[in-house]
Amino acid sequence: MIPIEEAEKILEKIEFRRTDVEEVPLMLSPGRVLAADIVSAIDMPPFDKSAMDGYAVISDDNSAEFKITEVIAAGSVPVRQIKKGECAKIMTGAVMPAGADRVVKIEATREQNGMMVITGIDPNRNICYRGEDIKKGEAVLTAGHWIRPPEVGIIASLGFDKVPVYQKAKVGIATTGSEIKEPGQPLGNGQIYNSNSYSIGAQVLQAGASVIYTGIVEDNAESISRLLSKLLEETQMILISGGVSMGEFDFVPGILKQMGIKLYFEKVAIQPGKPTVFGTYKNTLLFGLPGNPVSAFTIFEILVRPVLCRMMGYRYIPVLLKGILKKNYRRKFADRTAIVPVQYNNDGSIEPVEFHGSAHLSALSKASALMEVPRGVHEIPKGSTLYVRQI
Ligand code: AMP
Ligand code: MG
Repeated sequence: MIPIEEAEKILEKIEFRRTDVEEVPLMLSPGRVLAADIVSAIDMPPFDKSAMDGYAVISDDNSAEFKITEVIAAGSVPVRQIKKGECAKIMTGAVMPAGADRVVKIEATREQNGMMVITGIDPNRNICYRGEDIKKGEAVLTAGHWIRPPEVGIIASLGFDKVPVYQKAKVGIATTGSEIKEPGQPLGNGQIYNSNSYSIGAQVLQAGASVIYTGIVEDNAESISRLLSKLLEETQMILISGGVSMGEFDFVPGILKQMGIKLYFEKVAIQPGKPTVFGTYKNTLLFGLPGNPVSAFTIFEILVRPVLCRMMGYRYIPVLLKGILKKNYRRKFADRTAIVPVQYNNDGSIEPVEFHGSAHLSALSKASALMEVPRGVHEIPKGSTLYVRQI
């Protein structure tokens, strides 16, 4: 059994080939990872533009009234140069006319017989200057950036309709257990529904990778190794759940060794999730996750997600929420790092959710974060300030 920090270190150092680069249409880019810097080919804004509906004037022109020389709509080009005693009526987003260096907002003016009079106070210039947001040649976004809606907008604003991204890693999901039934089927005596394939599959999709799912395999060595051989060919990561504990039918670690998969660890001092296996075969990483659904979920968050993101060029940093523990936390044994599902409330308080153990998946729907209790720590007193990991 190795400490969680050591498992994390092994995974941080493990070498593999990053996924290849592909180009996707801009509209399909959110949730992907940029594979190259986005360098602007234009200034943003591309011209000095009015930030207001109003009148473009010369700022030190103290005329009592101003002759309106033209009306400049957004998208049209001004034709007249502004001189003293003159102005152009201008719309938000329109090109500033030559000579003018200020826009008086419409609310501070009155218009009469083709003349404009300033009637109110407007101390601002109301101009967005060429290149003030982005300069031509500037790297606006760098490779490795996770694309969110603002990034999609930024890329569009620079005129790019395609985006270079890392390909989605193909993740094979293998689920063992003769007692496991697929949802949608009737449940026999002694059987339970397969939740792992779906919750783990959802975590994989959420991380921006794609799922290859081939259904449940029976608890026998031959079926499991046949499926694994196939997945080793087709995927960059395999997540096999179940069959890794100490039971009579827990074949997975033995099979992996037999298949020549190099194992780095077979047990981690984490609760839940002790029987977690990690190995590699050529360019494919393989995790044996515990069958218990909360354990499998937790191990994915703590150990799998960071390495899966790295495979797609993204450095995953968990969101940490700072809060205050609302109740005393106590545990009997402290030989492992505990990962406790908690609710993070809007008032900044942290409460462990009611939790009956690692089969109690429904407890996770009440949890918004995971609290880490280090090895050797038996209790955390109420009122302690903590950071918890958002899920
Ligand atoms: P195992 O790791 O195979 O010993 O399984 C540990 C526990 O998790 C057992 O109670 C299994 O029935 C349960 N389990 C295993 N696989 C799944 C699954 N895919 N969905 C839900 N529960 C599972
Ligand atoms: Mg099993």
